[in-house]
Amino acid sequence: MRSEAAIVHEAGAPFSIEPIELEAPRASEVLVRMEAVGICHTDLIARDGDYPCPLPLVCGHEGVGIVEEVGAAVRKVAPGDRVLLSYWSCGHCQNCRSAAEPYCDQMFQVNFGGAREDGTSPISQDGRPVHGNFMGQSSFARHAVADERTVVKLTSALPPELLAPLACGVQTGAGAVANALRPRVGAALAIFGAGAVGLSALAMAVVAGCSPIVVVDVVPSRLELARSLGATDVVDASAEDPVVAIQAATGGGAQYSLEVAGRPEVLRQAVDCLRETGECVLVGAAAYGAEFTLDMTTVLRGRGVRGTIMGDSIADVFVPTLVALVESGRLPIDRLVTTYPFEQIDEAAAASLDGTAIKPVLVFA
Ligand SMILES: [Zn+2]
Ligand SMILES: [Zn+2]
Repeated sequence: MRSEAAIVHEAGAPFSIEPIELEAPRASEVLVRMEAVGICHTDLIARDGDYPCPLPLVCGHEGVGIVEEVGAAVRKVAPGDRVLLSYWSCGHCQNCRSAAEPYCDQMFQVNFGGAREDGTSPISQDGRPVHGNFMGQSSFARHAVADERTVVKLTSALPPELLAPLACGVQTGAGAVANALRPRVGAALAIFGAGAVGLSALAMAVVAGCSPIVVVDVVPSRLELARSLGATDVVDASAEDPVVAIQAATGGGAQYSLEVAGRPEVLRQAVDCLRETGECVLVGAAAYGAEFTLDMTTVLRGRGVRGTIMGDSIADVFVPTLVALVESGRLPIDRLVTTYPFEQIDEAAAASLDGTAIKPVLVFA
């Protein structure tokens, strides 16, 4: 079928909305008409060449839409269902079979490799393939073909623009707390980065009973928002040393920290701000090959560092939990979202980068 997608032709170039040809869904795939799609940091990393994704490419990995067609073997959803498109996993490697799907052996190869597991793309232009299957979906498009393992059925009456961010940003931040950290009630948490992922982590930390919760950023409006969402302390890292400020706010150091900025120097701070036995979880994605340094004695004294992808979430299990939290007002996504028509994808991406929009969501007319 013919549709339209935002294509990246060259690293760092703007998105270009152009006609595409989309294959019919294969036996395990579904065709989804997109209603909304969030813009996430990883889309911009891929656009700008910081991830080695092949071009031309259709990004987009926070899609919400209506199933229009299903392959013969699809059991999870039917035409007419609203679905969230989250991430692809193979389902048959050791980690997939151990309920660790974000750590699928093929996670990076397939979700960022521009093709399905067999190397093909469902997208083409004038007979030439365009790389697709980005995070199993390539949803910066009016229609997407996705494997049923990528989709989560939604039954919520919430508007699509409030559901889209659950696919990656919110799932990643909230899951980093609920699934990766599993904090003790009353434990001190420091969050470095008050974008959509960090603020989702904050909302989940409030639900989990962390206290104090210190949020670090350099954008005053984001710090104000963090305070209104439940941060007990906020730190402007452009004005004071966040390690010293966190040690003061927590009486000697945080038990837990989340690095959501994806920057080596911030990861160092997120470890240095911990008390002995504290745990740091790295959430932010850096450019491929980025390295960081730590003081070995600091780590030796009982501190731990690990990373998390997609908040350690099994989307089919965790997304319904997130939907319930949004519906009950405890995950106030409406305070994070700014909507743009699909045609304004470049303006939305720019607003994400300069901090004026926390979670831009594209809506399809
Ligand atoms: Zn796998
Ligand atoms: Zn993402």
